[in-house]
Amino acid sequence: MNETIAGLKAQIKSKAISAEEIKEILLARIKRFDEKINCYLSVEFKNSRHGDPLCGIPIAIKDNMNIEGMKTSCASKILDGYVSPYNATVIERLANSGASFLGKTNLDEFAMGSSTENSAFFTTKNPYDLTRVPGGSSGGSAAAVAADLAVAALGSDTGGSIRQPASFCGVVGLKPTYGRVSRYGLVAFASSLDQIGPITKTVEDAAILLEAIAGFDPKDSTTSEKKTEAWSSLVKNRPERLKIGLPVEYLNGEIEADVAEAVENAAKLFEKEGMEVKQIELSGTSSKYAVADYYIIAPAEASANLARFDGVKYGYRSKEAKNLDQMYKLTRTEGFGDEVKRRIMLGTYVLSSGYYDAYYLKAQKVRRLIYNDFVSAFNEVDIIIGPVAPTTAFKIGEKSTDPLSMYLSDLYTIPVSLAGLPAISIPCGTDKKGLPIGLQIVGKWFDETRLLQIANLFENSSGICHRTPELFTEE
Ligand code: GLN
Repeated sequence: MNETIAGLKAQIKSKAISAEEIKEILLARIKRFDEKINCYLSVEFKNSRHGDPLCGIPIAIKDNMNIEGMKTSCASKILDGYVSPYNATVIERLANSGASFLGKTNLDEFAMGSSTENSAFFTTKNPYDLTRVPGGSSGGSAAAVAADLAVAALGSDTGGSIRQPASFCGVVGLKPTYGRVSRYGLVAFASSLDQIGPITKTVEDAAILLEAIAGFDPKDSTTSEKKTEAWSSLVKNRPERLKIGLPVEYLNGEIEADVAEAVENAAKLFEKEGMEVKQIELSGTSSKYAVADYYIIAPAEASANLARFDGVKYGYRSKEAKNLDQMYKLTRTEGFGDEVKRRIMLGTYVLSSGYYDAYYLKAQKVRRLIYNDFVSAFNEVDIIIGPVAPTTAFKIGEKSTDPLSMYLSDLYTIPVSLAGLPAISIPCGTDKKGLPIGLQIVGKWFDETRLLQIANLFENSSGICHRTPELFTEE
């Protein structure tokens, strides 16, 4: 089942295969192989009308997006028993585009993490090395696509959660511009950062899914009214000679040599393809302060967003409570995991009176400086390239007891998120251990067209793309 949406679509049209057969093959593969990596939290097939453009092809969905009549767990105990009464806009749009749904994939609890180790249920494993993490928080989606247990998937990205797992699993992950895709029906983590995007085997498939899910939504006031494009066909056009910026500070810091080398090789390949590659300097704000800034802003928003999980409205309620106060307290104590509690405490602290100005307000100002950094960079260049993460997939347990080292795996993705820019992670090689390395390509605001085109050019020219990991090939 090493098949893409584009490939399957052609086969369905020529009647070489039916949507029903694809479903059977995938369900059989999940049954046989998912126990090796545990990428699904629930496997529940949901059909739609099977029309164009997606022709009934099944998509896996990160379990923080609502599908009517199905459980949404956010990999948290606190949503125990919660069944969604409605569809997220992305689900509605995929269904209207003829997609089916395969199941819900694992994540770090409430999308807080970089490894899926914060899931309340189990850790997903990296399909290329079962002792390693698939990245996170959309680790289940990335691992499912990589292991051919899904044709494609949706993930969500707040500070790197689509791009980093895509990088660790050797697949393509696209975080659209903030406001491009509706967040209605996505369980909110940090509302000013969250974006939904595709995780796929090829850049073309990412373009197909983006076209299906993007666009203004009256149900999400932060969606943009900018018109969407025919990305599924535009992606194949060769971009004009573009100026590509490579930030110097990205390759000088704490980055594994193999990753830095792969990014440098990618830059050379773009030059060979006639692009102008130049070194640029981001003023320093984004690289130096972005992670600290993010860990004030994201937890602040999370602490507000997660206030609704109180034992009254959704899911889990503690059985021990004797009065209302205890009910709130015990429900949240028992229902949330450690990382989520850490973020709620951090967020509540930075928003509390006396600390608001010193932390939250200041963080908002730093966020503006980071944004300005990219405005200046994009006055000079059309596209920015760099690493997705400083390392390839790390060992399960390696960072789980040290939150700070975990947070640093989003060093290169977080500045882009704070600025609201679109970015894609595509495979650009492997390290000495054979683990996938991702290249991050960042476009101008709402310039997904050129972003996809340049990514597609790289994929075609390098010949590097998804391959089924050995453990998941049928003998
Ligand atoms: N790893 C980052 C965090 O833990 C980003 C998560 C995300 O993008 N959802 O917050």
